[in-house]
Amino acid sequence: MTLAETVQAQQPLVLENLARLVAIPSVSADPGRAGQVQRSAEAVAALVRELGCPDVRVVRAGGGQPAVIARFPAPPGQPTVCLYAHHDVQPEGDPALWSSPPFEARSRDGRLYGRGTADDKGGLAVHLAALRAFDGRPPVGVTLFVEGEEEIGSATLAQLLSEHREALAADVFVIADSGNWAVGQPAFTTSLRGLADCVVELRTLDHAIHSGSYGGVVPDALTALCRLLATLHDEQGDVAVAGLASTAPPDLEYPEDRLRSESGLLEGVQQIGTGSVVERLWCKPSVAVIALDATPVEQASNTLIPSARAKISLRLAPGEDAAAAMPKLVKHLRDHVPWGARITVQDGDAGEPSMISFAGPYAEAARSAFQSAWAVPPVLIGQGGSIPMVADFARAFPEATILVTAVADPDSRAHGADESLHLGDFAAACLAEALMLQGFADLAAAGGGPTA
Ligand SMILES: [Zn+2]
Repeated sequence: MTLAETVQAQQPLVLENLARLVAIPSVSADPGRAGQVQRSAEAVAALVRELGCPDVRVVRAGGGQPAVIARFPAPPGQPTVCLYAHHDVQPEGDPALWSSPPFEARSRDGRLYGRGTADDKGGLAVHLAALRAFDGRPPVGVTLFVEGEEEIGSATLAQLLSEHREALAADVFVIADSGNWAVGQPAFTTSLRGLADCVVELRTLDHAIHSGSYGGVVPDALTALCRLLATLHDEQGDVAVAGLASTAPPDLEYPEDRLRSESGLLEGVQQIGTGSVVERLWCKPSVAVIALDATPVEQASNTLIPSARAKISLRLAPGEDAAAAMPKLVKHLRDHVPWGARITVQDGDAGEPSMISFAGPYAEAARSAFQSAWAVPPVLIGQGGSIPMVADFARAFPEATILVTAVADPDSRAHGADESLHLGDFAAACLAEALMLQGFADLAAAGGGPTA
């Protein structure tokens, strides 16, 4: 049998394994389900043992969630590839919003529904499928690394990487936790935006006063805050905070109608900013007001509001330094306060953006494996959001090639109700990864690999 025939013949079993994992509500954000996260790690370990792996461990760093490290030793002269995924999932939210029970893998209309089908138990299932395609004896060394706390920010990932440095060291890291460009169109993610947020509060009065008696002379804090927030964008909707970095955009078109339907942008509402759509999403900063505290409408009285606050979220383009970006935002806020209102700014979370170089013989071997599995060439994309753990890998193993792959597509609704996986794309991803491992082995055999 060819590798393609083997992968295809094994799909029912691979999907059954995935269903077994989806049935475990491994919600890392819920302390009440810590036992389920542990069960999930053990289920992953059991599946890898079934594949004949000689070295499987469930590990934790500090008070972190359980991760699985499983090693298939490298045949002589072959490189080692670390396959990453995470087995924890987002909370299911209101079960009434789901068309089928969130923790049951159900297929309909060519998609598999259930929490984690796409993010990221589907990514894990691709790794298991690639190992199964070689009957648990991959042609290169493989270390499977399955984290248990990605959905809560990978707090102990850096510690895991350092405590298990020797076990995890690899020539190539395949991180299966991003999104493809479209159904039928594979992608490698090569840039990720970072994040900085803060809470700004304005005060104009020491107590609320009658709006009739003083309105027209004394400013209310909410109007002052609105005027301040309005300065965050210029007339065209570009971010007006001075000195923020941006990078050169890829040549990829994201059509207006597709953006409108994928984002839910209402008819007649305009896009903001300038430059191509992917440039604005991946290569430039963006800013949004994500929360506001003031008097609720039901409690409104005819008074001038003395204080109001807002949470501002700033997305950072690759090339920006998260620690340097925050002071630029704070300076902008202080410089634009209207009417001498009192301002306080409290720093919040920060996450670094990253660029992942897609170059070298391993990247080229991956490109050709994906091309033959999907019958279309993969595209290089960015993500407007952040995957902070990618930066952890890059920092821990700066010499390695990092490939960020995906099983999710724009219809996957990761983190939302009715999360799903496109079954055709899943099968293609399984084959692509098996071909990629074979491609890495061929590279070493031909003497072309970086380790040769
Ligand atoms: Zn994920």
